[in-house]
Formats: sequence, structure tokens, C-alpha cells
Amino acid sequence: MRSAVVVGAGIAGLSVAGALARSGWAVTLLERADRVRPEPTAVVLWPNGVRALRALGLGAGLEAIATPLPDGGVRRPDGHWLVQPRALPADRMPVVVHREDLHDALIAGLGERVELRTGVAVETVHAEAGERPAVSDGRQTIEADLVVAADGVDSRIRRRLAPEATVVSSGSAAWRAVIPWYRAPQLPDGQTVGGEVLGAGYRFVSASLGDRGSAGGSARGGIYWVATAAGAARPEPPRTQLALLRRWYAGWPAPIGELLDATDPADLVQQEIRELRPLPRAYGYPAGPGGVVLLGDAAHAMPPHLGQGACLAFEDAATLAALLRESRLPDAVTAYDRVRRPRAATMVRQARRMSAVLQARGRLALRARDAALGTLTPRLLNTAAASVAQWRPPS
Ligand SMILES: Cc1cc2nc3c(=O)[nH]c(=O)nc-3n(C[C@H](O)[C@H](O)[C@H](O)COP(=O)(O)OP(=O)(O)OC[C@H]3O[C@@H](n4cnc5c(N)ncnc54)[C@H](O)[C@@H]3O)c2cc1C
Repeated sequence: MRSAVVVGAGIAGLSVAGALARSGWAVTLLERADRVRPEPTAVVLWPNGVRALRALGLGAGLEAIATPLPDGGVRRPDGHWLVQPRALPADRMPVVVHREDLHDALIAGLGERVELRTGVAVETVHAEAGERPAVSDGRQTIEADLVVAADGVDSRIRRRLAPEATVVSSGSAAWRAVIPWYRAPQLPDGQTVGGEVLGAGYRFVSASLGDRGSAGGSARGGIYWVATAAGAARPEPPRTQLALLRRWYAGWPAPIGELLDATDPADLVQQEIRELRPLPRAYGYPAGPGGVVLLGDAAHAMPPHLGQGACLAFEDAATLAALLRESRLPDAVTAYDRVRRPRAATMVRQARRMSAVLQARGRLALRARDAALGTLTPRLLNTAAASVAQWRPPS
């Protein structure tokens, strides 16, 4: 039986570990934290991410937890429309999912055949020609035919194999929360959640997870919001961060103020936005009978403005699983690199361009941005949407 060690039990590691185990591999999943725990936020899955989850055999579970996300357009803080909402064809419409629901589905997908070891922080990787790939946490060394590095943006394995890829700040920080329905504000007629509001270096996006009426169903429901601001993450406690957000977004279109007021500081998740520059020169490193591959944020951490990080991780996992079913092990490692690098590079390029548009500051830059948004953003979004829609799992 072929064996794999997957390092990191985030979205990427869980999805690839389950896929390999379902294909008959003996899988050991190593996680640094004492417990495998998702963030209490949500994630937008574009059609490519949904298609990848289906290819991974997780489509049925997704149906029960996903809420379609219609296009809500883009406004300025004064309410002026920069981009009107568009009707999206069903095959281009993203869905929004609570990360805890997604996590439950991925854990259920592990089945009985994955050995999950928590509290194991991998420090080194061995990937020399002629030797079996292995990882070590300084106390024990675990060998396998294949090592999958799914250990996130700060990946130790990538640092050793692709030191050229460095982690840099994207120049902004993000705050996210889900307000459960029982605490969500009642909105007056005509006021809705959804869409994007774009100011000078500030951005606010919101989405409904299910609807108030469906509270009590199997999925976690509520209102998900993301606020992004140019600058560094804040050192203050969450209550003070929320007060700052209220000040920054004061006067922005309703219901932004109401959503910030209804957010419990304990539910607030703050994160500095970071990315890899340049991207690693390779995603596959043949070694011994197999090799090492990079997957998820370990391979291509990018600004989140296109909502593609997790989607690409699912694409990575579905692609690797398909290639391993079709090819001999070292060939699959090489093919994974060949297939995934150009795909990730395209999406990262688009995410960076979107990030630059969204972070425009200063009067002239803003005027140029607003003028361009009507043409540039739909064009950019269409290009992104086309790349997104085009992806198919390898047959
Ligand atoms: C504000 C924001 C909004 C986003 N919104 C979206 C969205 O709407 N749609 C979308 O597709 N993507 C979105 N993303 C991106 C998405 O969240 C990430 O791309 C995705 O979660 C990455 O998953 P991962 O498993 O690769 O990495 P991680 O989630 O970072 O998981 C890595 C795991 O590895 C473990 N680990 C790390 N080092 C070691 C080690 N040495 N040994 C053992 N274990 C280790 C960690 O503890 C962790 O559990 C967003 C990101 C941000 C910041």
C-alpha cells in the first residue's frame, strides 16, 4: 500500500488527506496545533472550488451547507454605484459556507483510514534523490512515499525546498465575523446584506449564510462580513478593534454600522494579509520512490480579494488525487508541478491586480480607480470569472 504524510490539517491538508485515503493510501496527517480547529468565519467558494470539491467526492455534503451568493455590485461609501449588481448565470454563481460546516464535512471525509496526530510541529523535510521522503519534528522521523506540504503560508517545508519564495505583507489587514441569526440585526424593508462597499483603502463585504427562517437547520446560519483596511494589523484587544472599525466605517451605507454593532468581540477574527513573492519555482520535488509536493497556501498564498485561496487548495487536492490515480508516483509529482504552477500563477496575478485596485488611496488614485472600476473591474472580474469557470478536474 502506498503511504503519504500530509503536514498541516487546514482546509488544504484535510481535503488532500481524505482524497488519498479514499483512493486506498495509508495517510498520516500531522498538525502542529493540539486540536484541529477551524476559524469561526465563512468562505466564498467559486465554481472552480465547488467543482473541485465534487471531484474530491464531497459534493453531496456541500449541498447541505452552501448558500448561493448573488452578485451585490460595488458601491462607494456615499452609496454611489461603481458597479451595478449583475445577474450571474447559475454556473458562475459562488456559494458561501461557514468554515465550521466545511471543516465538519472535510473531517467526515477522512473516514477511518487517516491517522491524525496533533501537537506535531514538523521542522525538517528530507527530499534527496535516492532517499525516501521524510519529515521530522526533531523527536521522530516519519518516512513515506509521498510528503504533502499543506502547512500554510509559513510552511517550514517550503522554506527548506523553495527558499526563494518569501512571505511578505500585502499592506492590509482583514477583520471577519459571523453574526448568528439570533443576534443579527432586523433590517428595515429595502435594506439588504450583500455586495461590496469600497472606500479609500477600506473595503466592506457582507453575505447571508442561509436565511433567518432556516435557522435551526443543519448548517450554521447568520451574516458573514469582511472588512479590509490598508495598513498593519492592530495590537489592541478585539473590543477596541471593533470600536476602531465602527469609527473607520462610520457613515458608510446601512447596514454596515448595524452589523458592526451586533458583532460580539469574541467572534472577531483579525488577520494581517500576507502573500508569497515570488511564488516557489516548483510545486513538486521528486525524491526516492515519490517525492514532496506543495499544496494550498504553502504553495500560493495570495491576497484574498478574489476569494480564491481555499478554492485553489481544493483544485490542488483534486488534481493531485487524479494524477496519482493515473500515473506512477514520481511522474505524478512532476505532472502536478507542470499542471498547477501556471494555474496558480494566473490566479495570483489577478488577485494582486485586484488588490492594487482595491487599495487605491489619495484623491487622484481614487478618481482614476472609480473611473476605471466601471470598465476595468468588470473586465478583470470577467477574466477572473472565466479562469475560474474554465477549470476542470483532470479526468
Ligand atoms: C480575510 C481572508 C478571507 C478569505 N476569504 C476566502 C474566500 O472567501 N474564498 C477562498 O477560497 N479563500 C479565502 N481566503 C483564503 C483561504 O482562507 C486560505 O487560502 C486557506 O484557508 C488556506 O488553507 P491551507 O490549509 O492551505 O492553510 P492554513 O489554513 O494556514 O492551514 C495550515 C495548517 O498547517 C498547520 N501547520 C503549520 N505549520 C505546521 C508545521 N510545521 N507542522 C505541522 N502543522 C503545521 C497549521 O496549524 C494549520 O492547521 C481568505 C483568506 C483571508 C485571510
